[in-house]
Amino acid sequence: MTSSRVLVLNSGSSSVKYQLLDMSDSSRLAAGLVERIGEETSRLRHTPLHTGGESREWTGPIADHDAALKAVSAELAKDCLGLDSPELAAIGHRVVHGGKHFTQPTVIDDTVLAEIERLIPVAPLHNPANLTGIRTARALRPDLPQVAVFDTAFHTTMPESAARYAIDVETADRHRVRRYGFHGTSHAYVSRATAGLLGKDPSEVNVIVLHLGNGASASAVRGGRCVDTSMGLTPLEGLVMGTRSGDLDPAVIFHLARVGGMSTDEIDTLLNKKSGLIGLCGDNDMREIRRRVDEGDEQAQLAFDIYIHRLKKYIGAYYAVLGTVDAVAFTAGVGENAAAVRQAAIAGLEELGLAVDDELNAVRGDRPRLISPGTARVAVAVVPTDEELEIATQTYALVGKNVKSN
Ligand code: ADP
Repeated sequence: MTSSRVLVLNSGSSSVKYQLLDMSDSSRLAAGLVERIGEETSRLRHTPLHTGGESREWTGPIADHDAALKAVSAELAKDCLGLDSPELAAIGHRVVHGGKHFTQPTVIDDTVLAEIERLIPVAPLHNPANLTGIRTARALRPDLPQVAVFDTAFHTTMPESAARYAIDVETADRHRVRRYGFHGTSHAYVSRATAGLLGKDPSEVNVIVLHLGNGASASAVRGGRCVDTSMGLTPLEGLVMGTRSGDLDPAVIFHLARVGGMSTDEIDTLLNKKSGLIGLCGDNDMREIRRRVDEGDEQAQLAFDIYIHRLKKYIGAYYAVLGTVDAVAFTAGVGENAAAVRQAAIAGLEELGLAVDDELNAVRGDRPRLISPGTARVAVAVVPTDEELEIATQTYALVGKNVKSN
């Protein structure tokens, strides 16, 4: 039997996001989300996409990830196929941290699981949840190839000059302190799609990718390979984000501990959850911030300005890292939707060959598109990201050959 369907799972500590794709034509069959796992009011929202049917929602107790996956399987079985179907070729798991070790998507076995577990100290929030999802899916379908697709993998091509912090080498190595980068699946997909938009092969172009969602990161991609990215040991470094500070003097942490009397956990929460846009103005949704800016709200304006200032610094830095740039690509929730952010980030960079055409920038759509004037030396593009498609593509590329020949 030819099976070309891939289930993509993104398991969080209390949630599972999923999509079922048919890789014979990259179409999406279903998508959904289970939230608040372990609570009385867990919620499952399932959307059958191939039939264009209505979304179905269900609220009630879902005790754990095992129960969540069984509920997802039951929903999938209603309109296309359940987890037990022989038509399922593989499951692709998003795994946040693959360390230095995992440079490629990898078929999961016990050794791979042990290695992902070994990385928990550098990804304490994400890897345990990803592991739970994998273990649950493997228990349900031990016969099925399951693939880990790592958020860090695309960045493992960074040279040591970009990946190392300038701290004592022995201490850094002992604790695996280095810059790993995240959102790699998105940076890989978007840099490739940007080359496609320019009618070129990824090996022929240099691209700066700006992934601006609630979390945000920039990357410098030379000929299809990442040479620098703004997130580091953890997703805290780099751009101003919805709730994360991004770059700051590390001594701020000592100061808050010594002078402010804050504990390490309190500072961690401050920098990861109460900083960035929400810390600066009380809102982390760019739509709300723009609405407030339009009403003349000074706090929102300052938050916006700080966000743009940092973004511009990274565009300039990565321009210098790459030497020549063919395109700057905006992606994710803010990058794809906030024309004002794109306009402000590129404004004043004409000397670098960068400009935005206001009319093109105002056009909305879900296809990759250019927003720079035809005369611009460097293309500026909006390229919607698709991490699920990328995970499914990488998963199928790895296991599809075997599946097809069965
Ligand atoms: P994540 O995957 O990191 O949660 P997304 O890529 O979905 O984030 O982006 C979410 C963010 O995108 C929201 O917090 C909001 O700031 C922004 N966003 C979504 N739609 C719009 C819009 N129409 N205009 C401006 N910003 C938007």
